[in-house]
Amino acid sequence: MAAEQLKGLEESYEVEGKMALPYTYFAGRVGSKFITTIRDQQKIMGVKCPACNTVYLPPRQVCDKDFTDIRDNWVELSNTGTVINFTVVRYDDRHLPRKAPFVLALIQLDGAGTPFMHIVEECKIADVKVGMKVEAVFAKETTNTILDIDHFKPEAEKISIHALNAARKQWIPVEEPVTNEKRRGGKPDMATPVIITAALTGAATMKNQNPSVPYTPEEFAEEAWKCWQAGAAMVHVHAREDGGMATHDHGRIKATHDAIKDKCPELIVNLSSAVGMGKTAEQRISQIVAIKPEMASLNTNTMNFGIVERRTGKIFIDYVFENTFTMLQDFGRAMEENGVKPEIECYDMGGLDNTLLIARQGIFSDPMNFNFVWGVAGGQAFRAESFIAMMNALPPRANFTTCGVGTDEFPCIMQSCLLGGHMRVGLEDNIRMPDGKLARGSYELVEVAVQVASALGRPVATATEARLIMGLKPR
Ligand SMILES: [Zn+2]
Repeated sequence: MAAEQLKGLEESYEVEGKMALPYTYFAGRVGSKFITTIRDQQKIMGVKCPACNTVYLPPRQVCDKDFTDIRDNWVELSNTGTVINFTVVRYDDRHLPRKAPFVLALIQLDGAGTPFMHIVEECKIADVKVGMKVEAVFAKETTNTILDIDHFKPEAEKISIHALNAARKQWIPVEEPVTNEKRRGGKPDMATPVIITAALTGAATMKNQNPSVPYTPEEFAEEAWKCWQAGAAMVHVHAREDGGMATHDHGRIKATHDAIKDKCPELIVNLSSAVGMGKTAEQRISQIVAIKPEMASLNTNTMNFGIVERRTGKIFIDYVFENTFTMLQDFGRAMEENGVKPEIECYDMGGLDNTLLIARQGIFSDPMNFNFVWGVAGGQAFRAESFIAMMNALPPRANFTTCGVGTDEFPCIMQSCLLGGHMRVGLEDNIRMPDGKLARGSYELVEVAVQVASALGRPVATATEARLIMGLKPR
C-alpha cells in the first residue's frame, strides 16, 4: 500500500493468520511428456537446441542462450550421470520427499548439458562425493511426478565385455575333429566363446509394443551400436518402412544394412529371408542375393504362423508360412553361391530333418549353423528334452544357437549356453526383461545373455571369433 493510504491506520489491529491456497499446476506440454515418458517407458528425455547443441534436462520450450524454440527436439538420455554438487538436508518439512537427513544432489545425466536436482541414496551420506557416478532407480509405483525416478544410487560396476575380451587370449579353432559323439557323450564345450545375436525387429513387433523397435536406418544403426557395446557379435535384421511396415525393398534393406555397418563395421549383419507376410519366393531371396550380407536366415518348413492369445487359445491372425523343399533348396543354394552363410531356422525336429535331407545334394558348406526357434504359434514350445534331441540330431561340426518367443527366451538361451551352443535375444522375439518390465532396447536383453555367459564362465565371442566359429568367409 502506498504511504498516504496507510495514514490514519497507525492504530490498526493486525491478526496473524495463514491462507491455504491449494492449486493444481499444469506441468505444460514439455514437462508432461518428460514425466509421462519416465512413468510409461522408464526413459529420461531431454531436449536439444539445434542451434547451440545444448541438451536441457529438465526439458524446456526455449533455449536459454539463443531463444530457439526447442520443444519438439527430444533426445533420450542415459539413466546414469554425475553428481556435480549436493547438500545434506538436515531438517524435516512435510514438503520434502524424505525424512532428514538425506542427500539432495545436482545430477548431470550423461548426454545432458544441464543438471537437475534429485535424491541420492543406497549409500552412506558421508560417501557422497562431487564427481561420483550415479544411476536412476525408477519407482515401483507411479506418483505421476518426478519421483517416478525414485532416487539415484551409486552406479553399479558394469561388465564391459569389450574390456574383458581385450584382456584375454583370442579363441582359435581346435585342430582335433569335432564329432557328434563328443557332443552327446561328455562335458559340453564351454571353452568356445558364446556368440550373442541381437534380433532387433522381426517383421511383426511394433513401436506400440516397445518403442525401441527400430524403423529407420538411423534407428537400426543406433540399436545395433548399443547391442554391440553390450556384447553382441551379430544382429539379425528385418528392415522396415518409416511407418513400421516390413519391407522387401532392396534400397531400403541396403540402406538399413549399410547404416549398421557404417556405425559398427565389425558387427556381423544377418538379414532375414522372411521379409513379412505374403511375400513371394522371389521377393524373399532376391534382396539377399542383391545385398549379400554375411549371413541370412533360411527357413526349413511350411508351417502355421499365427498371432494368438496364449491364455485363451484364441486365434487372431491365421497365416501359413510357406517354405517348400524347393524354396529351402533354392534359397540355400543362392546363399551359398553368393557367399552368404545360411542360418538354418528350425521351428521343430521336422525342419531339421528337412534340412538334413536337402543337405545330401551337397548344397551347404561346413560348418552348418542352426537356430532352434521356440514358442512360435505354429512351431514347438520350449522343452528342455526337445532341445537335447535336436542338438543330438545335428550333423558333425554343426553349430547351434537358439531363440524363444516371449518368456521362452530366457530358459532356451540358458540351456544353449550350458550345452555349448549360442544365444539369440532381442525385441523380435521378446519385448520384456525377465522381471516382466519392458526392455529399454534389444541391448538390455543382450546384457541378460552376457550375465548368463558370465555365470557359466563362458567367454563372450568377439565378432572375429564368431566368424571363425561359424565359418564366415573373409571379405
Ligand atoms: Zn527375424
